[in-house]
Amino acid sequence: MDDERGLPTVWVWGDQLDRRLAHLRDRDPASTRVLMVVSDRKLTERPWHRQKAHLVITAMRRFAADLAAEGFAVDLRRAPSMRAGLAAHVDAHDPSEVVAMEPASLPGTRELERLGVTLVDNDHFLCHWREFAAFRAGRRRTTMEDFYRWRRETTGWLMEDGAPVGGRFNLDADNRRPPDADLAPTAAADPPVVDAPDALDASLGDWLPDDVDLRGAPPDGTWATSRAGALARLERFTTRVLPRFGDHQDAMVTGAWHLNHSLLSHALNLGLLHPREVIEAVIDVYTAGRAPLNAVEGFVRQVLGWREFLWGVARTADAGYPQRNALAADAPLPPAFAGTSGTRMRCVEDTLRSVHEHAYAHHIQRLMVLANLATLAGVRPDALTDWMHGTFIDAYDWVMVPNVIGMGTFADGGEVATKPYVSGGAYIDRMSLDACRPCHYDRTKRTGADACPFTTLYWDFLDRNRAALASNHRIGRAYATLDRLTDLDEVRARAREVRAMLADGTL
Ligand code: SF4
Repeated sequence: MDDERGLPTVWVWGDQLDRRLAHLRDRDPASTRVLMVVSDRKLTERPWHRQKAHLVITAMRRFAADLAAEGFAVDLRRAPSMRAGLAAHVDAHDPSEVVAMEPASLPGTRELERLGVTLVDNDHFLCHWREFAAFRAGRRRTTMEDFYRWRRETTGWLMEDGAPVGGRFNLDADNRRPPDADLAPTAAADPPVVDAPDALDASLGDWLPDDVDLRGAPPDGTWATSRAGALARLERFTTRVLPRFGDHQDAMVTGAWHLNHSLLSHALNLGLLHPREVIEAVIDVYTAGRAPLNAVEGFVRQVLGWREFLWGVARTADAGYPQRNALAADAPLPPAFAGTSGTRMRCVEDTLRSVHEHAYAHHIQRLMVLANLATLAGVRPDALTDWMHGTFIDAYDWVMVPNVIGMGTFADGGEVATKPYVSGGAYIDRMSLDACRPCHYDRTKRTGADACPFTTLYWDFLDRNRAALASNHRIGRAYATLDRLTDLDEVRARAREVRAMLADGTL
């Protein structure tokens, strides 16, 4: 083996599984060694959903096998930590240089800088964070909408003669239809792609430390652990689901966990798909006349707008951003979220069932059920971030921190969102086909033992946070209504009971 010593090493992280990205694109297999580390510390730093741990480790193993088949010398190793994995690799192979693509997360990048690893820019995103920082410089405030318009203009996607195709950049107003009786059966007719398990899936245990705390249902083949699997899922979405994607983007139906959502974010965030190919595939469907503009624009906005915007925010935020807590929320994570208690809130129960069974909840369940409840009840934003990071199949530090701190809980005081995304039970009733009617709680009531917790907490939240929020013109009407309530003392008293019940798992 002595003749192989001294090869440069490319260190590939678990969410960089793409041969076409900057770390591997120009590498000759005959003269490059690849290091991949499965870290015990990472696996034990928080509870993880079983399917998330399986996804990342199995996708790494399949990618390592693909690289080895191409002729790379691959060192895929389990180690107590990333740092220990690198040290053991250096001891064994004495690389002339260790190169890595800049990790998506800021803490990961800082760690590699400390270890003296040579970094190349991350091109798993379409807008590098330095470009984002330059765009933002000098602006008092940058919304996702500003960023998205700029990216549409820069890329030319869905643009015609310098103007957005269809005359508007954002067709969100067309995508908020409440569910109807056909929504779930139609979506169910195109079930997700499911892969049969093989020997690699079955041997996950070899890669897990004894003290790992895994939760949720075991993997069932729903999530792609290979490039081929990711492409099959992209094909399913573009050919069958995309035409229906737009209209009911914000709708919820009990027991229908995927509806017409793409189910591609896990593959995008692992590197099994690149955002460019996903956007181009979707626009091709529109150009061929096989999907309406509101569906295609809505999806492009998620990838070209939100995904890239959140990465820019995460990478350019100050070091204290993940701990921001503008509304001084100090309640613990509800035990129902962690799976150690049940709940009688039907919308929450259904969302948590989806989380348990699939490590997934769709956008509106995350924002308007889970984050909404946590924000209204004053749950600590960093506790919610940590839980969502460990639980959702597509979650990583860079995506969860701005999603929760900026969007979900308004903990950054309005840098990402222009108002808190909070609502009472009326919104959930409107956007869900069947959550409220059979629920133990009554969504129209704000006081009493059967009052909907969302409705009670909504008014209490506005009342408790008046000093921070009342001057926000986007929720001025809500404060005008609050000021006309004649039962505010009873609402406050019931809200105290509700928060206590949520914290002890009896709500
Ligand atoms: Fe959720 Fe309230 Fe509706 Fe029950 S009544 S399903 S708790 S919004």
